[in-house]
Amino acid sequence: LLLAYDPARRLAKLQVQLERATVNARMIYEILDMETRQRDKPGAGQLEVTDARIEFRHVSFAYASGERVLSDVNFVAEGGRTTALVGPSGAGKSTVISLIPRFHDPGAGQILIDGQDIADVTKQSLRQHLAYVSQQPYLFEGTIRDNIRYGRPEATDAEVEEAARLAYAHDFILAQPFGYDTPVGENGVTLSGGQRQRLSIARALVRNAPILLLDEATSALDTESEAAVQKALDEAMSGRTVVVIAHRLSTVVRADKIVVMQNGQVVEEGTHQNLADRPDGLYARLNNLQQTPQASATQ
Ligand code: ADP
Ligand code: MG
Repeated sequence: LLLAYDPARRLAKLQVQLERATVNARMIYEILDMETRQRDKPGAGQLEVTDARIEFRHVSFAYASGERVLSDVNFVAEGGRTTALVGPSGAGKSTVISLIPRFHDPGAGQILIDGQDIADVTKQSLRQHLAYVSQQPYLFEGTIRDNIRYGRPEATDAEVEEAARLAYAHDFILAQPFGYDTPVGENGVTLSGGQRQRLSIARALVRNAPILLLDEATSALDTESEAAVQKALDEAMSGRTVVVIAHRLSTVVRADKIVVMQNGQVVEEGTHQNLADRPDGLYARLNNLQQTPQASATQ
């Protein structure tokens, strides 16, 4: 119990630091049920998830500091399916994802999950159904076990290990000096990029949430890591509603739906095949230009 409680407290402290930190730091939130400073609406209900279908309805958004970054965004991420967001850097993809856990609220429009406006439910009940894997996996001070358990502080050791197995992390964890009890972070062992990613995927898996928000990594992993990370992601995505900022062509091609964004708007939507067949479309142009729709253009 103590073990489970302590990380949660450290996280609460971390969050305060993060909220003062940079844009990118925002995206290292992988734990979605931390306390937030913003209050829930009076009388906010519990989110009831059935299909885990997400709908953006006329969503516009501006950061406090500046101009509008999303304009009338409409799309549906069907329950149990993978929806890939693609488009040039600065198009608004990460912002779209950040609205789902309500890191920010839209200036106009609504985001619905199974027909319920997420503005009308408690953040806690919303975030309980979400898992998020960021582009730059973040490791906290503590052991490997702690780092996975951050995903769900009450998870048992068996559940932590099960998540690690699913994320193809169990074997490299056992190879560490103290296995699951090996310290990582500044004072711990150094893990490769692929290993860090798999830990962050394990952290998402231990949540066992129906909705997975995923900012795929672009970082050059060696081929073996890449294959292991891909397998871990496939495991994480299976059976869930996934909204992925897709960098890998394999993810884009296999997505059930591709939503193409540019300048804060959805400019096209479809499958890889029907978008690639539109000669004047942005997707087809990105696809021809770079082989992957935005291999180098997306952050
Ligand atoms: P993408 O993920 O498609 O690259 P982002 O959603 O990160 O796009 O950014 C969309 C726009 O919003 C960009 O112009 C970016 O500079 C701006 N932006 C992103 N985060 C913030 C922030 N925290 N404060 C102010 N502007 C931001
Ligand atoms: Mg981004």
